[in-house]
Amino acid sequence: MSSTPKTITIARGDGIGEEIMDSTLQILEASGAALNYDEIQIGKKVYESGVISGISPDSWDVLRKNKVFLKAPITTPQGGGFKSLNVTIRKTLGLYANVRPVAALVPFVHSHFHTMDLVVVRENEEDLYAGIEHQQTPEVIQCLKLVSRPGCERIIRYAFEYAKAYGRKKVTCMTKDNIMKHTDGLFHDVFDEIKKEYPEIEAEHYIIDIGAARLADTPHWFDVVVTLNLYGDIISDITAQISGSVGLGGSANIGQDFAMFEAIHGSAPDIAGQDIANPSGLLNGAAMMLAHLNMSDKAELITNALLTTIEDGIHTKDIQSKEYTKQEVGTKAFTNAIIERLGEKPKALKRASFGDQNHVISIDVKKTPRSKKELVGVDIFIDWDSTDRNPDTLGKKLEENAGDTLKLKMITNRGVKVYPDGLPETFCTDHWRCRFVAKDATKEHSPVVQYSAIPDLLNSLNDAGLDCIKTENLYLFDGERAYSLGQGE
Ligand code: NAD
Repeated sequence: MSSTPKTITIARGDGIGEEIMDSTLQILEASGAALNYDEIQIGKKVYESGVISGISPDSWDVLRKNKVFLKAPITTPQGGGFKSLNVTIRKTLGLYANVRPVAALVPFVHSHFHTMDLVVVRENEEDLYAGIEHQQTPEVIQCLKLVSRPGCERIIRYAFEYAKAYGRKKVTCMTKDNIMKHTDGLFHDVFDEIKKEYPEIEAEHYIIDIGAARLADTPHWFDVVVTLNLYGDIISDITAQISGSVGLGGSANIGQDFAMFEAIHGSAPDIAGQDIANPSGLLNGAAMMLAHLNMSDKAELITNALLTTIEDGIHTKDIQSKEYTKQEVGTKAFTNAIIERLGEKPKALKRASFGDQNHVISIDVKKTPRSKKELVGVDIFIDWDSTDRNPDTLGKKLEENAGDTLKLKMITNRGVKVYPDGLPETFCTDHWRCRFVAKDATKEHSPVVQYSAIPDLLNSLNDAGLDCIKTENLYLFDGERAYSLGQGE
């Protein structure tokens, strides 16, 4: 146990934030956790003062100094160009792992799943959440899905290290690599590489659709689930919801140097200031923070007191039930009940365990070695409209203007090959992906193309009146094709 007080940053946020933060700090104090606090202002008031990020430069200095942040929920104003503060903090401080444990507290909190006890480890920085979107034609808008090898390595290694530190037995990876063979395929490949380093931990992979269905149906099959950002966002809400109450869940956002802990719910403005909010979500976030600070004993002390309070039938409104609530209480009385039970352990519910407190999870990601990269073609995206949108008309025009170095291999529309030999039934938008390769390319052989061929081609197509909106180079990496084929190519 660390006895030198650790200074952390706190923010009371908006809505019920103030009430649940007061409750959490009182319980932390009563537990004897060696903590000091620096408080910063974030959220509604800061947004309304004209700072569109919701956080002032001074507050960043405090966050950077203390490195650990306990944050109450904030209200993000609708419209007006305000940025989500959560996303800003995650990305700015490199909080690559979002960790959300959920366990059913049956029968004291209603859930259909009696033995559910799992942790979702969600990649927190990449995927579609890079937020790179562009409208390219009147009909088509694109959002870029970015997945990096270091990003995959870091989150997957974190999931295995977490399993090891917290005595968990299995890590399940979920991807959609049957469709996204390169992005999700990378995540799956890295999972298969890293799992070999943890032979003591069972490892399995599910396609996300059946994985999510199984999570909703048989959550007790799962232990630690690691997945990409969007899937993790969705399944962590599903798992929190089916465990009984979104109001109970805590969440950790972990980076190499910084960490942020919070409740998974929002600022609940509908019940703010009424002394009825359940503080358990933020308290569970605070317990994860204590474990992160090598104070697992305090994390267990607090969580066991919370579980005992719930087991004793002392419930806030959101978790009350006819059979198991003996006393419905407000936030303050619930807080006092937890403090009175510090030192007690639940009799029916599983006791809290925060694992090996000497096992500090620190993930070191090595730079990926450069592989041999060869340019073998280009996909040129064209905004093209005509009365009948006949791909053959576009194909002929492209062939006439392709020049001497490159040839048109195919055209796809929303990923489906429409030229040559497309089917007339395929619906076409105004967004055409036109693939060009070396003139002497064959099915088996992809000769290298000089980069200058691409601007030459673009100029020629532009002169022919075609609207080129974007290009993607086609590469071989170490001789392997590193781009997807069109459906039907
Ligand atoms: P919410 O989670 O605040 O509330 C959803 C419902 O759950 C409400 O009926 C609320 O009363 C109830 N609830 C939530 N927490 C509770 C608790 N601790 N005890 C009892 N009941 C609780 O979601 P929302 O209404 O969609 O969002 C409100 C605001 O919170 C929005 O401005 C949103 O942007 C923000 N938000 C912030 C965070 C965050 O800061 N991490 C996360 C989600 C939403």
